[in-house]
Amino acid sequence: MNNKKKLIAGNWKMNGSLAANEVLLKALIAGLDDVACDVAVAVPAPYLAQVQALTAGTVVAVAAQDVSRYESGAYTGEVSVAMLKDFGVRYALVGHSERRQYHGETDVAVAEKAQRALAAGVTPIVCVGETLQEREAGQTEAVVKRQLAAVIHLNGHCISEIVVAYEPVWAIGTGRTASPEQAQAVHAVLRAQLSAASEHADRIRLLYGGSMNAGNAAQLLAQPDIDGGLVGGASLKAADFLQIIAAAR
Ligand code: PGA
Repeated sequence: MNNKKKLIAGNWKMNGSLAANEVLLKALIAGLDDVACDVAVAVPAPYLAQVQALTAGTVVAVAAQDVSRYESGAYTGEVSVAMLKDFGVRYALVGHSERRQYHGETDVAVAEKAQRALAAGVTPIVCVGETLQEREAGQTEAVVKRQLAAVIHLNGHCISEIVVAYEPVWAIGTGRTASPEQAQAVHAVLRAQLSAASEHADRIRLLYGGSMNAGNAAQLLAQPDIDGGLVGGASLKAADFLQIIAAAR
């Protein structure tokens, strides 16, 4: 029985402007009604203050798209977890495949970021997922287990405080969603790995991400080990994002 409160997190990526964010958030907030899940939006760092102000007093939590693995100091361009906390940030994505791919983030760096967030009371949303090449080579399980193992290894008993997002790279932004069965199969693997590491693994939320949309969300979210979604493109349209939120019961 899956009775965890689900989490629907939007990932705006490098999109938005002061004007567009205001329109989007006002439409989102106006459309929220009888929300049964937790809701968050992961926004570009320059807009954290704006989004904090616009979402204050609503159910929408503020999330960051990344966090530095370092505490403070000579790390040009980095944003520390303490800075994120100044803007009321509740969640931080770590290890999104676009960070791993374009910024060379290693499993260890991702684990350190998760550790930094956890220590500051910000919930890391740890992203894992295989590329198309890895899936076709039959390596899906090995890849996601390796990525998650690094985080488990470094974060030990705190592991039950994380959120995990399974995002097959081939499904991100491609319109090609994993089938509910494909996603559930990987989620079950991740759940088993977490269970071996923590007696509280059943309370860890496992999100699916990769072309989740208003049309496929309900089926994906009905799977026993899918506890929410990490939503890119569809989170930029209030009506679509609201439909996904409504499907998360
Ligand atoms: P998508 O992105 O929903 O646009 O596929 C998901 C993500 O990258 O988090």
